[in-house]
Formats: sequence, C-alpha cells, structure tokens
Amino acid sequence: MIEIDGSEGEGGGQVVRNSCALSLVTGKPFRIANVRGKRSKPGLMRQHVTAVEAAARIGNAEVEGLEVGSTEIAFRPGRVEPGEYHFSVGTAGSTGLVLQTVLMPLVLADRPSRLVLEGGTHNMLAPPFDFIERAFLPVINRMGPRVEARLVRHGFYPRGGGRIEVDITPAPLRPIECLESGALGDASAQVVFAGLPGEIALRMMTRLRKDFPDWHEEAFSLRELPADQGPGIILMIEARKDTVTEIASGFGQLGVPAERLAKTAAGRLKGYVESGAFAGPYLADQLVLPFVLAGAGCFTTVKPSGHLLTGIEIARRFVGTRIDLDLNESGHHQVTFA
Ligand code: ATP
Repeated sequence: MIEIDGSEGEGGGQVVRNSCALSLVTGKPFRIANVRGKRSKPGLMRQHVTAVEAAARIGNAEVEGLEVGSTEIAFRPGRVEPGEYHFSVGTAGSTGLVLQTVLMPLVLADRPSRLVLEGGTHNMLAPPFDFIERAFLPVINRMGPRVEARLVRHGFYPRGGGRIEVDITPAPLRPIECLESGALGDASAQVVFAGLPGEIALRMMTRLRKDFPDWHEEAFSLRELPADQGPGIILMIEARKDTVTEIASGFGQLGVPAERLAKTAAGRLKGYVESGAFAGPYLADQLVLPFVLAGAGCFTTVKPSGHLLTGIEIARRFVGTRIDLDLNESGHHQVTFA
C-alpha cells in the first residue's frame, strides 16, 4: 500500500486525482491521509468524490472513505474496463478534472471508450474545455492515442449543466521531446458569456485590444450563449505556436472588474509567449501523467508551479521512471523522464 500525506506539496485535489490514475495503470493500491490538507476546507469536496467514483468504476476499484468531507481514503484498483461511461459531477464541479482522472487508464486500455461527462465545462481553478481540446489533447494525440472531445453544452459555476463527450482510441504512449514551442502563428481572444449583460464582455474586449494593439480586428470575438446556460462569463486568449497551443483564461467573478481579469490573462499569455518554453504552467502539471507513463521523453516549461512539483512527487511514488527538473542550455526549465 502506497502511503501518501495529502497535505504535502500543493496539498489539494490534484494529489487525489493523480493517485487514482496512477494506481489504475500500475495496479498499486494507495492510501491518502490529510486529504486536501493545505486547503482552507480540507477533505474531499463533491467534485473530488465524483472523480474518485469515476476512477473506481472504470477500474473496478474498492474505495474506503469516499464521502464529502472525508480526510482519508484508501483505493485498491481492479482491472480497467474500457467502454461507455456517463459521469455527472452534480453541481458545477469540473468535467475536465474528472477527465484528468480517468483518461490515462482508458488511453492505455485494450479497447476504445466513450465518455459523457456532465457538470461544469468552464470553471475557475480547472482546465476549461477549450484548453483540454486545443492545448492538452493535441499533445496526447502526438504520443499515439486518438482522443477527441466535443463540447455539447457549456456549464459555468455555480449552475453547471454542461456536457462534454470524449472518444478514446487507446494506444501505447510514445515518448516525445517537446523542447521548443516554435514561432507564434495565429493568436486570438474570445469572450463567451451567458445570462449576463453584454457590456461586461465588451469591457473585457476593450482592455484586450489595448494589450494586443497589433492583432487584427478578426482576432477578437464575442459569443453570447442562450441565457439558460448561464450566468457565466469566461475570457480565453489563445496563442497557436508551431508545436503547441496555449490558452490563458480569465473567469468572471463577482467583485473582480472585467478589465482587471482581461489584463491579468493578457499578462500571462504574453509571459508564456516571450518565454519560448513549450508548456505553460497548467499544461506542465497536466503533462506529468502521460509523460511518466510513456517512461521517457521531455518538455520545457515556464517557472515550475507547485502543482508541477507535486505532480512529479506523486508520480515518483508509483512508477520507477526517473524524473529530473533542470535548467537547460536555452535557459528553460526542462522536465526529463527516463
Ligand atoms: P483544490 O480545491 O484542492 O485546490 P482542485 O481539485 O480544484 O483542488 P487543483 O489541485 O488545484 O484542483 O488542480 C487544478 C488542476 O486544474 C490542475 O491540473 C491545473 O493545471 C488545472 N487548471 C487550473 N486552472 C487552469 C486554467 N486556467 N487553465 C488550464 N488548466 C487549469
């Protein structure tokens, strides 16, 4: 039994999700004490329970302590069963985070799978659907498997009600080298909103035009969804580089001015583009699972986040792959798996 202290490192839900994924692939059971020990409200929240339940269902696992508020869980994996699954996160918990939990075991299974995930699709502190589709999955597909995701309906916090569908054609994960992001091709900014005054979206756009004065007018777009898909608003700024796409997001929040959200997201995207690194901070922590399971390969990233370091620590507990984090000759932080 692998024993994990859930308050170490980032000390959040990622420890739980990554452990489930690694356990299903390696067949090794684990126990986590102090679940989400670094959060102001420790223990499993509804969306973590759904993620673990999803992992348990696809992998015939036995789980102890699986309830909202639980601070200790034990997970004994069984055999991963690919197929058709429908998981509903209930509240606006993130569908993307449930996908993070079950994707690798299904990608490495012996038959295709199809997932229907219901809940939030554009939640704060989670990968928005667009990020999964255009930043994360293209890297997975380069490694061999074929994963296609469709957004059927948007779901914003707190109402949720979104739906995504994912088709997975498994294949062994091939090691790849992702050292350079290459030249910047297209770039664009989109504000998607529902059930809120269009003026908020316009204020975001006005600020973004100031941040990116050289971009063509067509690079900026507003999309208003039917009001019953809201209320909610998200801003996504996308940079398509030669080898990778990055999306910086700003999630509408009560009390945070639209301009400030736009300025922060623009600053993040500019920082990433100027760095020349392959992975932005979020993509980097999400790539640890596929790369460690490929057993080799490397990627460069911007300044390592707490999530990246914690992801590496958790992966080391389950697999023998060596993981090094160094500054390389080009001055980039490089994560190497061997
Ligand atoms: P907790 O509430 O315990 O913090 P959590 O389950 O909400 O936990 P985290 O442990 O913080 O989640 O992990 C969040 C995950 O979402 C990380 O993998 C991170 O890369 C990803 N993520 C967060 N924000 C974004 C974003 N704006 N774009 C892409 N990915 C994101």
